[in-house]
Amino acid sequence: MSNISSQKQLLVVTDLDGSLLDHSYSWEDAGVALSALRERGAPLILNSSKTLAEMKGLAVDLEVHAPLVAENGGVFAVPNDTGLTDQCENVGRSGEYSLETNGLSRDFILSIAHGLRARQGYKFSGFADWEAEQVAEYTGLSLSKARLAQSRFATEPILWGDSTLRYVEFESALAVKGIRALRGGRFIHLMGAADKADGLTSALTLYQKAQPNVTWVTVGVGDSANDLAMLETADIAIVIPHADGPHIRPNTARVVYAPLPGARGWNEALLKVINEYY
Ligand SMILES: [Mg+2]
Repeated sequence: MSNISSQKQLLVVTDLDGSLLDHSYSWEDAGVALSALRERGAPLILNSSKTLAEMKGLAVDLEVHAPLVAENGGVFAVPNDTGLTDQCENVGRSGEYSLETNGLSRDFILSIAHGLRARQGYKFSGFADWEAEQVAEYTGLSLSKARLAQSRFATEPILWGDSTLRYVEFESALAVKGIRALRGGRFIHLMGAADKADGLTSALTLYQKAQPNVTWVTVGVGDSANDLAMLETADIAIVIPHADGPHIRPNTARVVYAPLPGARGWNEALLKVINEYY
């Protein structure tokens, strides 16, 4: 291996559900590629719409000791003992992580949304209004997982119970304050302008500062529309298909389409990229 190639390192940023995690939330089939990345010292950044509290346990299981990107790019959390925290602006702490919110904080979002509700009488409720029991009922999560899902810093899922006309009104009033309302499956997610691509950029900036002699080659892995910007920001985009084929087509120079859905496809596509770059 030449000196030049030994200075190259992959920085992998991956979506979880439908990408690294199968429908049964298992990553076992990605074990070979995960070990290969670990052996080469390539950082693996988990980037999800899940909360930090939901992701922490998975990071432990995966032996991932790197920043976590939670709430669709809204939260960037760095483990305190990695030596990387000196490089970032810490705005808060969550256990063993220092974290920053990117864009708007949930407190700000709630103050605006709840203010509008109080003044205009809009009918909606969200995670901030509910006990863990209600979150469990509405999401189908277990009670303990519902509590982890309630621990939010940058986004608020709500259920709308008013007319469509009133919703359009509410949405524009939020937009004036820079708050987006994105329809997910069941919930409407109130959030700032942050995006999963911001998580990739934050991670890259951090590693570039910490290891300036390394040429980082970023790899984005995802399966859905909310991963597209992240994949198009990466040097190499890996698309994980669904059972009926790929659901996204990133508009970028280097795209690898995994041959299989979920963790098995993740494993094969990552091994292909790893074999090419080391
Ligand atoms: Mg996904």
